[in-house]
Amino acid sequence: VLELKDFRAYYGSKRVINNLNMAIKKNKITAIIGPSGCGKSTLLMSLNTMLEEAEGRTEGQILFNGKDVHSISKEEVRRRIGIVFQKPTPFPFSIYKNLTYAPIYYGVKDKKRLDGIVVEKLKISGLYEEVKDEIHGSALKLSGGQQQRLCIARALTVEPDVLLLDEPCSALDVKNTANIEKMLMNLVQDYTIVIVTHNLSQAKRISDYTAFMLDGELIEYDETHRIFTSPQDNRTKEYIEGIY
Ligand code: ATP
Ligand code: MG
Repeated sequence: VLELKDFRAYYGSKRVINNLNMAIKKNKITAIIGPSGCGKSTLLMSLNTMLEEAEGRTEGQILFNGKDVHSISKEEVRRRIGIVFQKPTPFPFSIYKNLTYAPIYYGVKDKKRLDGIVVEKLKISGLYEEVKDEIHGSALKLSGGQQQRLCIARALTVEPDVLLLDEPCSALDVKNTANIEKMLMNLVQDYTIVIVTHNLSQAKRISDYTAFMLDGELIEYDETHRIFTSPQDNRTKEYIEGIY
């Protein structure tokens, strides 16, 4: 689905990603791991062209279904490649409005259809039973874990192909993390998922492929079980053994 070719990213004149080549596999969970500052968030934001808005600059190519992302309209890219950040960021509106905001923006008017989207996405996120009596109540009243599931649900309301997640669980406790992991493992049948995580056991538990980055370079990218059982590069081995 997504392919990076000779990809480089800069903030001003400072290069933070260097000649990265990588093809992200459809309907799989890909984990991106690596020490702080190695460029994981920059890479993730590049994938849906957000980096340009965060004062960054890119060179090389990002192909989405074979087409350069920059040849596709921004709206289309944003609709088809959703992104969720570390800190849950629900809009300060009702749960209902959080989940209908983007569909309405993209032209869905029918009330029944909007209601249908709300129920479907709440069910997908495992929130339905928890919040069904307060759908018109403020999203900010939800717990952190519920807010994060709502944000993922919200990203799904426009039926993206790809879901990008930047450390979505690092502000959550074990139970909420487990909820999100379960949700992602259910979603992967329908979506391509890329997750940046500091939590190596999380990468091991849920991802099919793992990419290890160091200092702006992709050191190793392989099936997750191979990265964790027989890494080919010494630097990968040292990282997963906790040396960095
Ligand atoms: P972390 O694990 O701490 O989230 P990361 O792997 O996501 O780190 P990035 O945020 O992608 O790392 O940052 C990569 C490099 O780019 C770092 O050296 C960082 O200092 C630098 N950087 C990030 N954002 C900016 C910015 N807006 N302007 C200038 N430099 C930046
Ligand atoms: Mg980051």
